[in-house]
Amino acid sequence: MPLYESPALTRKSIRLGEADKLVTFFTLRYGKIKAVAKGALRTKSRFMGRLEPFSFVSLIVFGKEKTELYSLNSSDIVEPFMALRSGLDAISLAYVSAELVDLCQRERDVNKHGFSALLSLWRSLNSNVDRGKPQGKLLLRLFELKYLASIGFAPMMTHCIDCNNQLRGATAGFNAFKGGVVCLNCLPADPMALRTAMGAVKLMSRGLLTPMERLSRLSATPLILADVERMVNDLVGTHAPRKMRSELFLNL
Ligand SMILES: [Zn+2]
Repeated sequence: MPLYESPALTRKSIRLGEADKLVTFFTLRYGKIKAVAKGALRTKSRFMGRLEPFSFVSLIVFGKEKTELYSLNSSDIVEPFMALRSGLDAISLAYVSAELVDLCQRERDVNKHGFSALLSLWRSLNSNVDRGKPQGKLLLRLFELKYLASIGFAPMMTHCIDCNNQLRGATAGFNAFKGGVVCLNCLPADPMALRTAMGAVKLMSRGLLTPMERLSRLSATPLILADVERMVNDLVGTHAPRKMRSELFLNL
């Protein structure tokens, strides 16, 4: 049977029968896949400590082409993200990122931009674990925005989605369902649009154009962050097939 090798992000593992684990990976080369780790629950398993969620691994699986379930050959840790996994704020942010990918990433759809954005977010959360929750939340929201863009749902942030005019003024509207910003002229005719500060619109516009690893230096005032969060949450609510459960833990 052919072997498949790829850098991968370990998402979750669940018990399967007496001794096995079923592990979900988001891989660079094959998209989201599932693999059975035979004997992973045995005390002397070769997979011991190598299937932790939220780690970056070098993965080898085998199985028939286009199978829905591979067998795990090896999962060697490249970056364990220990700080991320032991920090309560960081891990709750990472859970939201992982749930979004779980919900929206179809199995075996290759998504290199989405993969790099998630890897970069986890790296940033791991190394900036002490920089506080608002900074982490901003990074998470910009990741969600970039991930949605990677699967074809990038919102229009520079021109009005209704009349195509460039935005002016200190505020604007945002309609997630229509997929972008609404100018002040069109806003009265759109009761569903959120009203938002232009600073938040500009931050999201910049987020879409800048690689994830260069976004960790950005910061936002509480008001701008709140507007970014409202817009991104609306976008996620529009495109994810169900409500995000992990969001509940973010606000504890
Ligand atoms: Zn307009």
